[in-house]
Amino acid sequence: MGKMIDELHDSASKGQLDLVLMIIESSKQKSVINAQNDQGWTALMFAARNGRVNVADALIKKGCDVDLMTKSGQTAVDIAQFWNHSSIVTLITSDSNNSNIPCQLSTVVTYFGKNPLDRCSAMRDNQEWIEKELHQASTKYILFHKLNPFVLYQDNKYEICPISYKDISFLLMGDPKPVYIFLGLGCLDLSNTNGERNAWFALDVSTLEEERVLKFSKKAEILSSKNKYAIMGFDEIQAGVIAQCKSLLTWHLRYKFCPTCGSVTNIAEAGYKRICANKDCISLQGIHNTSYPRLDPVVIMLVISPDKQQCLLGRQKTFPPGLFSCLAGFMEPGETIEDAVRREVMEESGIKVDKVQYHTCQPWPMPMQLMIGCLAYATSNYIKVDQNELEAARWFPKKEIMDILTGHGLNSGAAFSLPPKQAIAYQLIKTFVGTSSNL
Ligand SMILES: [Zn+2]
Repeated sequence: MGKMIDELHDSASKGQLDLVLMIIESSKQKSVINAQNDQGWTALMFAARNGRVNVADALIKKGCDVDLMTKSGQTAVDIAQFWNHSSIVTLITSDSNNSNIPCQLSTVVTYFGKNPLDRCSAMRDNQEWIEKELHQASTKYILFHKLNPFVLYQDNKYEICPISYKDISFLLMGDPKPVYIFLGLGCLDLSNTNGERNAWFALDVSTLEEERVLKFSKKAEILSSKNKYAIMGFDEIQAGVIAQCKSLLTWHLRYKFCPTCGSVTNIAEAGYKRICANKDCISLQGIHNTSYPRLDPVVIMLVISPDKQQCLLGRQKTFPPGLFSCLAGFMEPGETIEDAVRREVMEESGIKVDKVQYHTCQPWPMPMQLMIGCLAYATSNYIKVDQNELEAARWFPKKEIMDILTGHGLNSGAAFSLPPKQAIAYQLIKTFVGTSSNL
């Protein structure tokens, strides 16, 4: 029996559907389909781990138990989710009655990449409508003091502290008016399940003393900018909105004057445009990118070795001790994403890249980047680190990465660490180890 189970698990891992079916059908014991190994793993879990959709589909149709857990408490869905095999997640969840499991995981959504608000961009230049929304009793404001959000801290998470119009009306009626940005319509309340929509605005309250800001809510605090990772402490539902606010408010702070003629500019379109006050300015004729919020594209790539068994990670001098991550760099004008990837990898590590594959992207509000995540396939192995850009770079075998991702590295006192799961680099690294090897 033990040998048969090993064979079943092995063929499920490898996606050998015929063999899986043969073992199940030839077994006299019906329970073989749900047989667990020493670690509690089932055939479905092995299929889920390795993205074997056809095997998972067959096992489910044959009536396997999708709710069994490993000894460390993971179900097949947890395993498929962790390794980004979204079609298997969908397969299992559409079969299961477990309503706690999210079923919309068709693609990887990065942290800061989920924004539940309807931006209603067509309404931004309708000042009458914006004014009406500003004054609604249901409207909520997210306060920012010197670019730091006013937040609650509960259950080990930061949470937006929504403020009503009546509490900040004195600011909006004052002169000069503070910067406000219309974020959109929607629901950001983590516990609200009735789907009520209201307008959300970001409001810059930097003109107030910190003590005055704290009076808006006894339980809330101004998120400290000293810890640059604090902004990653929000629930994913709210993180995207925080990113939207932070990037736009930073733009208003840094780009107060017209880049074309140096005159003052005035905010328009509910925070999404700045218009030059000089009526002769060329920026008033036609569409000019100086008038709209700035967004800087950055390529971030996981370089994969020619034999596809190792990936290249590097260390910047400013990284916390031991941290290695993907290489990255700003795109240049007149450059494709693919060429930017090849140029940056060559500059920083001396490695030659041929094929570049887009993976996913991530808004990164420090202050206003778009991280474009790619897999880059190397055609050379020899590393020559540019010491101006990086402190170190080296190839990491799949096994070494896997030990860190699964937590085994911590126990063995690993000498390096990987970026947190909120970083797109983590998703890229996970994709690499999730492509073929067994857990
Ligand atoms: Zn101008």
